[in-house]
Amino acid sequence: MSLFSDKILEIALPVPLRRTFDYLAVDENGQELEDIEPGCRVVVPFGRQSLVGLVISNKTESEFPIEKLKPVKSLLENTSLFNKVDIKLIHWAAKYYQQSLGDVYHAALPKLLREGNTLAKLQDKKLVSTDELPEQLPANAKAQQKLQDLLSNESVVDKAKLKDAGVSTVTVNKFIDSNWAQWQSYTPEPKQVLESDIIEPLQLNTEQAIAVSAINSSTGFNTYLLDGITGSGKTEVYLQTIAKVLLEQKQVMVLVPEIGLTPQTIERFRSRFNVEVALWHSNMNDKQRFKTWQMTRSGIAKIVIATRSGVFLPFSDLGMIVMDEEHDASFKQQDGFKYHCRSIALYRANLIKVPVILGTATPSLESLANAVSGRFHHLKLKQRAGNRRLPKMQLLDLNRCKSTSGIGEPLQHRIQQVLADGKQAMLFINRRGYAPVLMCEECHWLTDCHRCSGYTTYHKTTRQLICHHCGNQQPTVHQCQGCGSTRLTTVGVGTEQLELYLAEVFPEASIVRLDRDSTARKGEFENKLEQIQQGKAQIIIGTQMVAKGHHFPNVNLVGILDVDGALFSSDFRAPEKLAQLVVQVAGRAGRGDQQGEVWLQTKFPEHPVIQDLVNNQYADFAQFALTERRDLALPPYSHQVVLRAEATQSEFASEWLTNLTPHLSHFEQLLVLGPMPAPMSKKAGKFRHMLTLQCQSRSYLHKVVDWLIENLDSIQNSNRIRWSIDVDPVDLS
Ligand code: ADP
Ligand code: ZN
Ligand code: ZN
Repeated sequence: MSLFSDKILEIALPVPLRRTFDYLAVDENGQELEDIEPGCRVVVPFGRQSLVGLVISNKTESEFPIEKLKPVKSLLENTSLFNKVDIKLIHWAAKYYQQSLGDVYHAALPKLLREGNTLAKLQDKKLVSTDELPEQLPANAKAQQKLQDLLSNESVVDKAKLKDAGVSTVTVNKFIDSNWAQWQSYTPEPKQVLESDIIEPLQLNTEQAIAVSAINSSTGFNTYLLDGITGSGKTEVYLQTIAKVLLEQKQVMVLVPEIGLTPQTIERFRSRFNVEVALWHSNMNDKQRFKTWQMTRSGIAKIVIATRSGVFLPFSDLGMIVMDEEHDASFKQQDGFKYHCRSIALYRANLIKVPVILGTATPSLESLANAVSGRFHHLKLKQRAGNRRLPKMQLLDLNRCKSTSGIGEPLQHRIQQVLADGKQAMLFINRRGYAPVLMCEECHWLTDCHRCSGYTTYHKTTRQLICHHCGNQQPTVHQCQGCGSTRLTTVGVGTEQLELYLAEVFPEASIVRLDRDSTARKGEFENKLEQIQQGKAQIIIGTQMVAKGHHFPNVNLVGILDVDGALFSSDFRAPEKLAQLVVQVAGRAGRGDQQGEVWLQTKFPEHPVIQDLVNNQYADFAQFALTERRDLALPPYSHQVVLRAEATQSEFASEWLTNLTPHLSHFEQLLVLGPMPAPMSKKAGKFRHMLTLQCQSRSYLHKVVDWLIENLDSIQNSNRIRWSIDVDPVDLS
């Protein structure tokens, strides 16, 4: 064979360049690599490093002179890691989100495979006997006899089984050294799901029954917006539609928000189905993630409960996708490969023609618009399951009462009564730390972060000022940096202050705080949830961590302390996010036998959003908000792409975007907004500017963006800035 063979491999590499790379189809040892399946991994030289790439195609021509192409280093497997449909999904996602193909492939792989480990190395191993294993072992070698029995009686003897049986490593090594046994890779076989694997479904109410029968009679690709108020029994609808899919011997993907994956959720699936339920989330280690990837691929896992990136898992036979809390912002990845999990899930379901359920009590306006237009089937659950009533909503006008550490006097009084009744009270404030800022009483200087255009939060217990935007931490100051005064005071309230204050006024009550600081250690979040569950906590304080789907039957009173900041935001999505948050938090009240109550504190009781939240249901709010969006031609009635530029000097970033705009002027249907500084105009030392492209037609917008990305380098080349693109942005900060 010659090194100048005309066989070429087109490879996708995890580098920001939006193109693929050609290599000679020969490995380091001169072995020809013929007809390699797309989706196999190779290790290739790239500059001075070695990278793990994915084979895209086999070709015979390259736009580069063939003698300049390098051979690959090694081929990691010769059957593809992805099936044809998954490959299609990945290519679509890369194109739609303007991301490098290699980056998207890597996002779809567990870390151990991104790092270039071979499947053979990672695969499960079982111990099998060889022909040399003697029939008779010495009578006194009891341990050896035990292993011999195990090997002849059990079909699979893996590490777990050896441990269960109490066989020591010494014994195993003796067998291996004597060549009586050896380790062998194996893939466990998927199990049939039987009727008897489905355990005691609940009797559905009418609304639930209608939803289940609609979904269960679905054929092909259909999207169901399961729009059910909090506590209406959406999960039961998931479970009874999942049952049908499982009995067809297909798998189900259940997508949940980042902090929605609680032991309680998992338990509901595991106790209903006697099948393999696998998990995929950011708290798992690399080995556990690989295991889930493998069990999904081999079909062993029947249900996979996953957060965002699980949407790319390689199901062998996926029969349905369920997305719980579909409105949740954590489904959008904000950095690196910026994709929306819901869009990927819908595209994937459409490729393989299976149904999708989008469940929520507070549909995103995007999904609601799709339901209104008939693209999604709208299934409504308007009643709480088991005859429970929705909580009573009431306003507390903070202009008309005294308040301490964020709590109005009447609410504090009410908490006292609820505690006396033996019930739990939950207080929601979406700020961690003691206070969002320190202020000088003489010159009004504020503790700001020198790396960001924001303030630093005062954390009293650790005596630090922490910037929640860039993570910068420093010891707290005792003197104003403007005038030198020592009269510094806190402004605003965070969870930490609330906890300290409540501990003072209710010394008998046990208080549990749920926020990022108090749940940082492994297992702490789960422990706290359990304390609440078991009634060991009387007062629960939390940030949006408490809002997500928890079922706390003993919580009777919910206080929402500070929503006013969100009323005057420049982000057109702020009212939607606020309404969702308030309804979700409120939904934690009264999930037991008694009707719950929700207190909403505000200094702006007349504000239309506040009025809507107190007097109407989310549906009314959403309908009004949709009309407003339509009138203003904002998403979902138009589409957006944001181009961001970051630089160490503000002008570099703004100039770079300004230079682009004349080139966009001939796209007549395009609305160009900006460039302008981002709302958070400086973050972690970088100045940030943005250019928003908006258009009624999604396909037109995508054509513009394709053109723009193609021509960026020829319009201007700058290494002083870093740019990124965000298709269908949701967070404009
Ligand atoms: P959601 O997810 O809509 O907020 P859940 O699925 O958590 O609601 O259901 C709330 C409670 O109602 C749970 O305790 C659940 O077991 C119960 N539940 C659901 N459906 C029924 C039903 N058909 N009959 C009785 N109880 C039900
Ligand atoms: Zn001062
Ligand atoms: Zn900062």
